[in-house]
Formats: sequence, structure tokens, C-alpha cells
Amino acid sequence: MRESKAKKVERAKSIYELLLAEYPNAKCSLHYNSPHELLVATILSAQSTDHRVNQVTPGLFEKYTSPKDFAYCDVSDLSKDVHSCGYHNQKAKSIQGASLKIVEDYGGEVPNNMDELVELPGVGRKTANCVLGEIYNVPSMVIDTHMVRIMNLLKFVNTKDAKKIEFELMALFEDKNWVKLTHLIIDHGRAVCIARRPQCGACVINEFCPSAVI
Ligand code: SF4
Repeated sequence: MRESKAKKVERAKSIYELLLAEYPNAKCSLHYNSPHELLVATILSAQSTDHRVNQVTPGLFEKYTSPKDFAYCDVSDLSKDVHSCGYHNQKAKSIQGASLKIVEDYGGEVPNNMDELVELPGVGRKTANCVLGEIYNVPSMVIDTHMVRIMNLLKFVNTKDAKKIEFELMALFEDKNWVKLTHLIIDHGRAVCIARRPQCGACVINEFCPSAVI
């Protein structure tokens, strides 16, 4: 039987509360000291891990100390500097292009709205939502690989399309919880609901999960 919207909202609330109790300290695991550093770290994190990015960024931010340093750098040097994050040529181009626009169009300040953020080279909704939520406290959800997998397992969505998932989840979870929800799901995906080997028996939300195998 198809679950009603009201039932889904109720289930979403229970799941959120249980995960919050389980991972009270869930937060963004990328290291940064400014909005622009978070933007750079987020671009680097695509198809990589936050751990890998955190190994690269201390040296990177020591060498490039401002949006201007990234904007007017030699992109082939930058590419070498971010090599270990993967897709280094593309990421270097994105970081340089985004930094240039930030410096020349926005006076060096990272924009605080979706429309302007997604106009920056290499910045999609995922990166934009990360910046909006972490820096500007705008209710936003980052739909990463854990969110896609777990929200499908929970049968809150039935699609891999990140934008569709984002909008469907917005209708189920309270906006004040969106930023935290992403971090809770990422922690849960790393610790328990692991890709291809979910630990359903040890999962605190198993009674609310239609995919639980116990
Ligand atoms: S019950 Fe299993 S599939 Fe469902 S969220 Fe928990 S670990 Fe993942």
C-alpha cells in the first residue's frame, strides 16, 4: 500500500530525532577558515573523500591565501597542487574560474544565494547548498552519495536525480533541520548504513526503514 504523505512526514520526524540522538555532533567534516576556503574544499571533494581533501587543503591554503591568489594563479600549477583529489585539471579550472568571478564580480565575497552561486564555474546545487547551509545559515540540503542511497532505502524517494531528491525531501523534513539532516545521514552512511553492507541489526532507525534486513 502506498504510504500517505502524512505518514511519511511522521516517519521522517522519528528518523530525524533518532539520528540526532545517535550522532549529536554530526557536522561538516571539511576543514576551512573562510567562505571561500569552504567553496574550494567542496569543489575538491567531488568524487573524492573529505579525509583526502583535508590532507590537501592545509598546504593549499598556505600557498593560496585569498580568492585573488586562486583567481590569478597559473592553473597548471594549481592542478598539480590538487592532483591527489582526482579530476585535478577540471577541479583546478573550476576553482580558478569561480575565484576569478568572485573577485571581479563580487568584490571577493562568496555570493549568499543559489542563483549567483550556481553561475560560478564548476559550482552546482550540491556545492551551493553546502556553502549556503554552512556559511549563511540558509536552510539547505546537500544531496551526496549517502543521501541518495539512504533516502532511497528509506523509500522517501525513488530516484537517483539529486535535484528531485532535494525537493521531495524538502516536503518531508522541517526546514530548520535540513542542514543537520545531511550531516546525520552522512555519519549514518559511514558508520552503519554502509553501501552494499548495511548493518541493519545495529541500525537505530531500522523500525522505520522499509528496506531493513534483520
Ligand atoms: S535499516 Fe538497514 S537499510 Fe535501513 S537505514 Fe538502517 S542500515 Fe540502512
